[in-house]
Amino acid sequence: MLAVWIPEPGRFEVRDDLPVPEPRAGEVLVRVTASMVCATDRKVLEGRFAGVRYPHVPGHEWAGVVEATGPGVVGFRRGDRVGVEVHVGCGQCPPCREGLYNLCEHYGDPAWGHAHIGFTIPGGLAEYAAVPERSLHRLPEGVDDEAGAFTDNVGVALWAVERAGLRPGERVAVVGPGAIGLIALQVARLTAGRVVLVGTRPDRLRKGLELGADAVVDVRQEADPEAAVRRELGGRGADAAVEFAGTAQAASLAVGVVRRGGRVVLAGATGGDARLDVELPRIVRGHLDVLGSVANPRGVSERGLELMAAGRVRVAPLVTHRFPLRRFAEAWETFVQRRDGAIRVLLRPDAA
Ligand SMILES: [Zn+2]
Ligand SMILES: [Zn+2]
Repeated sequence: MLAVWIPEPGRFEVRDDLPVPEPRAGEVLVRVTASMVCATDRKVLEGRFAGVRYPHVPGHEWAGVVEATGPGVVGFRRGDRVGVEVHVGCGQCPPCREGLYNLCEHYGDPAWGHAHIGFTIPGGLAEYAAVPERSLHRLPEGVDDEAGAFTDNVGVALWAVERAGLRPGERVAVVGPGAIGLIALQVARLTAGRVVLVGTRPDRLRKGLELGADAVVDVRQEADPEAAVRRELGGRGADAAVEFAGTAQAASLAVGVVRRGGRVVLAGATGGDARLDVELPRIVRGHLDVLGSVANPRGVSERGLELMAAGRVRVAPLVTHRFPLRRFAEAWETFVQRRDGAIRVLLRPDAA
């Protein structure tokens, strides 16, 4: 089969001579129909994601059609359209017992049944992938395969917004207009009274306005970005801020824009060594709840898919480029160089 193959950190090949995987007990073989790349794939490619062993087939944002099922699989059958949620916890450690697969204490240990699709096991930048049944969500009608490739993204965004404990009518700042931030914006909008999107790239901010942001703040155009966010929120701090930019400055800004007693969810800096530079009284005297958020617990994507099916969260505008998987090198350059305003670059293994 065709697949992106990373023989060792730092280089990749597109090969068409890899064997189609056999689904083992509890696994489902999926024929991939839509797959995407994101910034985390860069870490995988460069050998900066702990837990990845090489050679490796990446791909963690994808959807497809069930081709075959392994022994013991009862929930899916051939022909089902599915999207993947990539954290599959062991199911037995204390966090997993509560569904917190994203916090599994047996990360990367297959003996415990843990799998992180596209990281610790082969992923979906390939024609086929065999994955644990527990990772799959049936795609509802109204969610096509391309939208289905956002199954994991939408879970990540939804969970971060839920962590913020939004109440109807509250004022929210979303910092970081990448794909997941642009989804988080839409999720926040379902509850919030006003949502301001904050970022550095005008094309992304424009996309945010298309997707329902009430206002945007371009931090590069503002002498005092925190004041600008307050201005756009009607002269007051945000009740909650959700950050998906991944830089220290963005995290500080998120902490800086909330009102006293507000909540901050930091979800961008999932790796690397960025440090939060904030005056402590800002948090202590500000009586802030500052929360981290990584990925999402089991099943959160299910609700995200419902929102997509209902048209309340739109992901189609985030797909800016499409390539056959065979042309992965070109797709990757487009994504990495952010050519032509690239946000999500979609790969189709079945396209010529
Ligand atoms: Zn990703
Ligand atoms: Zn676990």
